[in-house]
Amino acid sequence: MQKLLVATGNAHKTEEICALLGDGYEVCDLKSYPHLPAVEETGTTFLENATLKAVEISRQVPGLVLSDDSGLEVDALGGAPGVYSARYAGEDGDDQRNNEKLLRELAHSSELERGGRFRCVMVLAENGERLAHFDGAVEGHIMSGGQGNGGFGYDPLFVPVGYQQSFAELGEEIKNTLSHRARAMEKVSAWLAQRS
Ligand code: IMP
Repeated sequence: MQKLLVATGNAHKTEEICALLGDGYEVCDLKSYPHLPAVEETGTTFLENATLKAVEISRQVPGLVLSDDSGLEVDALGGAPGVYSARYAGEDGDDQRNNEKLLRELAHSSELERGGRFRCVMVLAENGERLAHFDGAVEGHIMSGGQGNGGFGYDPLFVPVGYQQSFAELGEEIKNTLSHRARAMEKVSAWLAQRS
């Protein structure tokens, strides 16, 4: 079985990536390496931050490392929160405060102006070298109030195109057929399959 270290401490991301990879991989994340220092996300693009995470961790741990840098881009906010999605309400913010801030920022935007997308960039690295990068996006809009208990982050506020419910209401199975992460992971899986 091929080993893959996901360079994240976000259990939700790891869970989604495991479900999307399917059998044949032994997946772990940074929770298994508590002694490793956190990688600072100093980049200004998803690709820069995903590269920083995968390359830095792969310098310290042997084997394949996969990183995910992702976030929500809202058109009415000029693409914010974007790469700052996790820290939108501040360094000590959390999902609830991030969602509350997003709703405040959009309070005067009409439904038509609430369009946006989740974007994800993934990087595979080994021995401190970037091997490849992959991206995925899903278009949708931001609701005027949170709905649903599933998922994480901005899932309660995001309705993908073609649906009436938020990702948090649609649940993991549907989210994993169309999410930004699912679309990037399809490319990762194809790359890994042709490499082996
Ligand atoms: P990162 O860990 O620096 O890549 O930050 C990702 C942040 O983007 C998360 O903390 C969430 O706020 C947001 N995000 C990324 N992917 C998703 C998703 O699938 N659902 C909801 N929020 C997401």
